[in-house]
Amino acid sequence: MAAMLLARGGSAAARALTFGCLRQLHTVYQTVELPETHQMLCRTCRDFAEKELVPVAAQLDKEHRFPDEQVKKMGALGLLAMDVPEEYKGAGLDYLAYSIAVEEISRGCASTGVIMSVNNSLYLGPILKFGSEEQKHQWIAPFTSGDKIGCFALSEPGNGSDAGAASTVARLDGNEWVLNGTKAWITNAWDASAVVVFATTDKSQKHKGISAFLVPMPTAGLSLGKKEDKLGIRASSTANLIFEDCRIPKANLLGQQGMGFKIAMQTLDSGRIGIASQALGIAQGALDCAVDYAEKRLAFGSPISKLQAIQFKLADMALALESARLLTWRAAMLKDSGKPYTKEAAMAKLAASEAATAISHQAIQILGGMGYVTEMPAERHYRDARITEIYEGTSEIQRLVIAGQLLKEYRG
Ligand SMILES: Cc1cc2nc3c(=O)[nH]c(=O)nc-3n(C[C@H](O)[C@H](O)[C@H](O)COP(=O)(O)OP(=O)(O)OC[C@H]3O[C@@H](n4cnc5c(N)ncnc54)[C@H](O)[C@@H]3O)c2cc1C
Repeated sequence: MAAMLLARGGSAAARALTFGCLRQLHTVYQTVELPETHQMLCRTCRDFAEKELVPVAAQLDKEHRFPDEQVKKMGALGLLAMDVPEEYKGAGLDYLAYSIAVEEISRGCASTGVIMSVNNSLYLGPILKFGSEEQKHQWIAPFTSGDKIGCFALSEPGNGSDAGAASTVARLDGNEWVLNGTKAWITNAWDASAVVVFATTDKSQKHKGISAFLVPMPTAGLSLGKKEDKLGIRASSTANLIFEDCRIPKANLLGQQGMGFKIAMQTLDSGRIGIASQALGIAQGALDCAVDYAEKRLAFGSPISKLQAIQFKLADMALALESARLLTWRAAMLKDSGKPYTKEAAMAKLAASEAATAISHQAIQILGGMGYVTEMPAERHYRDARITEIYEGTSEIQRLVIAGQLLKEYRG
């Protein structure tokens, strides 16, 4: 699959030249010289996003429609299981590659970006890291091609940031686990074929009594709540998962009993690199739109890009974006080298999500009235950016994680 992804890179580069979008590619590469493999991947994903996502993103958003066809094509390219080894039908690439790919896909369509990120980081990630060999074959391989996607259910109506307070319970009954409780805000819920779900197996142990389970979807005893009507990322589904005496085989426990909280936290460390990358894509899309408009829009007899007030905005937008990209790539590279990256992933997610919100806000300002209507993508970027400061840990939680790690390092 890696070969398939890379093989498309050459022709994409030629197309980029033809359509004159190489200038934008340079803005990426000037940040840091990427390895050739990653540059080719970037071109392939950019080409895919330009052709398959940009033309339909507004319509998908308007209709709240899951990008079924596009997800299947992404699966065929290897984009849904990027760091999964080839023996489980993944692309066998690294997290830096994953970050670059999520950014490029999200630049075209942020909803598709989160669908991809959840499947890669939140669903496949914990199974790859904590699953038995048998579980990897059963629960990973069918979820790499785009025919099936997964989801991750940690949050509940009564607790989001305080994930250790899970009230969903799992009780062992003979050879089966019986699950009861409600999980909230689950991305991909309406379109998923399996879920990694967290439930308490021993309440007295608090967060150390939480375990992780693999549940097929649909299955008896598991129903879906209504599709949430969201501000942004409207082409991705978000819904409650309701477990009522839902029985699953004993073998569907992921990792050891009581390891669930650790699995969730480690999964979110990786997931934050994905969401940081999604935010970078939204921010890059907003900046591209603002620059293009500023060059073309005339006011007082010349393009508004000649006005210093506009130039200062563009400079601040580019600075925030490229700083956040460096932080995101650093977190990805630390993960790839097997080093700790909890603090760095939280920094990347915080910087990129706040940059996306600020940049998409200023892009609307630069477009004036045209920024406020759906003919231009600026208003969608603005709506899509906002969620990146909320899911996989709010900005407040990222600050707590960063400070906690910093103080731990300082105190030795
Ligand atoms: C579109 C969408 C998709 C999502 N997808 C998923 C998914 O796929 N799987 C999943 O499990 N969850 C998902 N979530 C849930 C998401 O992760 C939570 O919404 C998020 O973690 C915040 O939790 P909460 O909404 O309960 O807010 P709360 O935890 O109630 O927080 C409310 C406010 O209080 C602040 N706050 C809380 N605790 C502290 C603290 N200790 N210090 C400082 N401030 C604090 C928060 O930062 C926030 O500003 C999704 C949410 C949305 C909206």
